[in-house]
Amino acid sequence: MLRIALPNKGRLSDEARELFTDAGLEIRAAGPRALTASLGGEFQALFVRAQDIPEFVADGAADAGVTGFDLVQESGRALCELADLEFGRCRLAVAARDDSGIAALDDIVDGTRVATVFPRITEQFFRGRGQAVEVVPVSGAAEIAPHIGIADVIVDLVSTGSTLRVNGLHEVATVLESSTRLIASPDAPSDGARARALDELVAALNSVIAARGKRYVMANVPRARLDAVKRVIPGLNGPTVIDIMNGGAFVAVHAVVTAATIYRTIADLKALGAEGILVTRIERLMA
Ligand code: AMP
Repeated sequence: MLRIALPNKGRLSDEARELFTDAGLEIRAAGPRALTASLGGEFQALFVRAQDIPEFVADGAADAGVTGFDLVQESGRALCELADLEFGRCRLAVAARDDSGIAALDDIVDGTRVATVFPRITEQFFRGRGQAVEVVPVSGAAEIAPHIGIADVIVDLVSTGSTLRVNGLHEVATVLESSTRLIASPDAPSDGARARALDELVAALNSVIAARGKRYVMANVPRARLDAVKRVIPGLNGPTVIDIMNGGAFVAVHAVVTAATIYRTIADLKALGAEGILVTRIERLMA
């Protein structure tokens, strides 16, 4: 059995479950409060707090784990990263009160109190810059600290920035960029059945992530415009071109395209005289 530690609640939990399900590892738990669940095959899920997952994996209680890069760094444990799962994106930022007069890191004077849920990263960051701040560890809601006189500056996670704004704080600098990672212990054997199973897990998760940013487009296009069509939808290795069984002036083309620019792609295909344009999602993509 391979034990995979997954976040038991919070913002990473739902997206981790969705990713594993899309990769064919459906979570079969005995109930909503179950601490373990079968993921099918040789995989078992352990549901743990996201901040405890680096410890679980580093201590060998789980073979791999899914958690934020911020939490991996804060743990200070030696862990290896198997995949960037690309959700839970945020940045750990230094923020100060709007009325503090602090616009840049150099405006933070020695002795300034900095409240944070990430004391280890914060200590390292300011020590690395040669700034002697006083780190004040808090267990949550660091954004309140400047208003109740606990600290003048905070180091906290920022996603949209709206939490900082409503609390009269502004971002001064980014300490690190984070997203969710699949991690394993560096002591795990690099060969054998376990290593192979982990490699397969990484490949399955990566194929779902790769597919999310892509669409499959199909269209009937004028045979005479194929060169121009190829430039619009180059696909992975050039578009697939299929004869339509009427020997006519049109051929069918299929290609994998970038989801973010699908609007432009369709407009360009239409301009080339394409008909019957069909766009579908892709479940997995292994290039
Ligand atoms: P926002 O208002 O969108 O900037 O979100 C900031 C709030 O959400 C802060 O309280 C953060 O601690 C929390 N937050 C944002 N992104 C994440 C994340 N990826 N993981 C954990 N907490 C986050």
